[in-house]
Amino acid sequence: MDLLNLSIKELTTYLKSGEISVKEATETALTKIEKTEPKIKAFIHLHKDEAMKRAEELDKKKEKRGALFGIPIAIKDNMNLKDTETTAGSKILQGYISPYNATVVEKLKNEGAVIIGKTNMDEFAMGSSTENSAFFNTHNPVNTEYVPGGSSGGSAAAVKSNEVIAALGSDTGGSIREPAAFCGVVGLKPTYGRVSRYGLIAFASSLDQIGPFAKNVEDSAIMLNVITGFDNHDETSVQKNNQDFTHLLGKEIKGKKIGIIKEASNFDIQEEVKDSLQASIDVLKDMGAEVVEISLPHLKYALPTYYIVAPAEASANLSRFDGVRYGLVKEGKNLKETYEKTRTAGFGTEVKRRILIGTFTLSAGYYDAYYLKASRIRRLIEQDFEKAFEKIDALLLPTTARTAFKLGEISNPLEMYMNDIFTIPVSLAGLPAISIPYGNDRKGLPIGMQIVGKWFKEDELLQIASALENGGKNE
Ligand code: GLN
Repeated sequence: MDLLNLSIKELTTYLKSGEISVKEATETALTKIEKTEPKIKAFIHLHKDEAMKRAEELDKKKEKRGALFGIPIAIKDNMNLKDTETTAGSKILQGYISPYNATVVEKLKNEGAVIIGKTNMDEFAMGSSTENSAFFNTHNPVNTEYVPGGSSGGSAAAVKSNEVIAALGSDTGGSIREPAAFCGVVGLKPTYGRVSRYGLIAFASSLDQIGPFAKNVEDSAIMLNVITGFDNHDETSVQKNNQDFTHLLGKEIKGKKIGIIKEASNFDIQEEVKDSLQASIDVLKDMGAEVVEISLPHLKYALPTYYIVAPAEASANLSRFDGVRYGLVKEGKNLKETYEKTRTAGFGTEVKRRILIGTFTLSAGYYDAYYLKASRIRRLIEQDFEKAFEKIDALLLPTTARTAFKLGEISNPLEMYMNDIFTIPVSLAGLPAISIPYGNDRKGLPIGMQIVGKWFKEDELLQIASALENGGKNE
């Protein structure tokens, strides 16, 4: 039996009963990683010794074996893990050792997870291919000439290549869903406020949300059960009753209203992605769902809106990296020169571009023309969704218009931004969404279908996703 082929649900059954020891599971993951990493390069840091030590401790634990007992898990390198280096894929944070655990890390640990290491990412989560990492590129496990997507490309690749059973990523405009689609795994972005951001290195605080990568929908629900919950360390964390997100899985979806977007045909979508969309519509209909066309008139403004809002917030968030408080220091003759030298050496091109744009759009003379206007359009986009959700239970659209591209293939930043046209509108509205693998293109690259749920209705979203996942199995 290949342990790493198992789902969380399957593997925890063996681990909790003691049939497989946590040590064995951890060693199996580490051996796999040793073999796979030279080709995939999903990890920035591996914590082999800590993982083995933790495994031995867990094996001794006889009571309260949690929901992730002994499960090898990877986390994106923008989440603080106490006493380890956290770089967010940037040179400017090299040498920064986290003094505390992010809330999600605490939660994983409380449920018995074994954290194997921290995964590669676009610098400060800005990008769609992981090529903006300051360190190295990650390769798509399906075909190593292709990008794994981004910015959580390392986490998606680690799950796809069976180096770990599940992983955490963060999604600001698509960074969980897009790499999940490119690599052929399940990626879930919860409703904004559902999961604490405490200890996540901020990119755009009104959009950032942590979520899981997993092999299937059920495992995503199990992961969400663990990481969710109100946290008074995060002012935007929302108080909600704890619920079991697996409770609707397997229930029939007859009568559910699934929306498809009228305006989607205005976008240039790869033929095979269109075919997959049609196939998933047919499967949902066969299961008794009703497909309803809805309109999102402001959809076309989502990308420009995001590229005002996100850089504005990023420029403020990233001002803390100044050569005084964290990581890299390039000392100058005076304080100003230290700032300049550190930030010049520490930040990559895309991050600098966003800081410049953000500083400009927030400046006194331009604030009304850009940031304020973008915030208003953001509200209109949100209202489009509000209206649509009066008529439907969930929305179905492709995660990306095209499948993965080759490493080095896209050098124009605007072209790179286009990868997120279908994920960004959802982020601007703070809605929950999941990407599930749904077929492949002619080259064998995975296609992802995105399902968007109502605010805080992850249980229903997962129900529909799981129906589609299982309904599509016989195709
Ligand atoms: N690709 C988008 C960007 O570069 C989204 C990134 C993300 O979700 N973190 O901003």
